[in-house]
Amino acid sequence: MVCFGAFGLAQLLLFYLPAVQCVVNIDDYFNVKTGNEDVGGCDEIYEGKTGHEWLQTWFQEAQTLTDTASNAIKGYGTEELSRKNLAVFMGIEPKGGTGNAPSNPKNLGVVEANFQKTQQWLATAPAQKKWIFCSAKWLVEKKPDDLLEVTHGSSSGFSSSSGPQAKIKDVYSIPSGQKPYWSKDLQEYLIERPMNAKNFCNRNFKNFGGTMEWFGTLGATEPTQNTALTEVMSKGVTLYHELFHFILGSVETPDIISNLRGVISTSASDAINGEVKSAWLPESLATFAEAQWLSVNQWPGIASNQYWGWDGAGNAQQKAR
Ligand SMILES: [Zn+2]
Repeated sequence: MVCFGAFGLAQLLLFYLPAVQCVVNIDDYFNVKTGNEDVGGCDEIYEGKTGHEWLQTWFQEAQTLTDTASNAIKGYGTEELSRKNLAVFMGIEPKGGTGNAPSNPKNLGVVEANFQKTQQWLATAPAQKKWIFCSAKWLVEKKPDDLLEVTHGSSSGFSSSSGPQAKIKDVYSIPSGQKPYWSKDLQEYLIERPMNAKNFCNRNFKNFGGTMEWFGTLGATEPTQNTALTEVMSKGVTLYHELFHFILGSVETPDIISNLRGVISTSASDAINGEVKSAWLPESLATFAEAQWLSVNQWPGIASNQYWGWDGAGNAQQKAR
């Protein structure tokens, strides 16, 4: 990890400066598959950078976004722009509609706890690293009647040397509509719905696979009046979304929405289990953090007493701080 004093980050974060910022290195947290796309590797060049370099950029962005979101929640009582973004994207409305206290402090606490958990996870590299692959070709589609790979054995006990070799379906239950996939890297089968090449989220969320468009970074494009948030978000938002599944738990973080319209409509809808629904949705958490960062960033195109806020449809509106 590389650590900088607060001074070095002054250009990036306008409001909230942590005392010391240690920049995360993705290789400390994940095994990033080497090689070209044909093996799911991340060494190919996309828009001038290798997949590995894009992932490193986006992993650092995840850290920046998490700090930004945490600071926004801490500043709820004093920062109107934080309150507005939390209302639009997370459904945390101020008491009475205009006050500086949340109408439901417990819900704000759940959002805060989930960002804190993410912050803590990013603060220490794990002892055991998971894999990141850069295309779905790291998996080989199999049929339920295929024999188990002879190298497979960690969970089945079957092998070619211990009697008749078992079929995949003898060891795994394969629900209708799903297929077995073999990973040479993991030496494991994943049972999944048929994958398209760009599927990043999968149900057996042990490792990341597949990816998205290889361009776009945080702050690369300044919003203009009425620009949709999605037009100016970093493409790293996909990796950030996946990190929430990974850190908060795949069962706890269902993919019931996947776009800006869903984020906004969910923020206005009912809570589940007495907790605000948005607090558990990766797309909502990631979108709120992006929106907040774009609001607190000091853009060259507007005066320092202005910021880019968001209306009820997620479109940019220039506002006074
Ligand atoms: Zn997801």
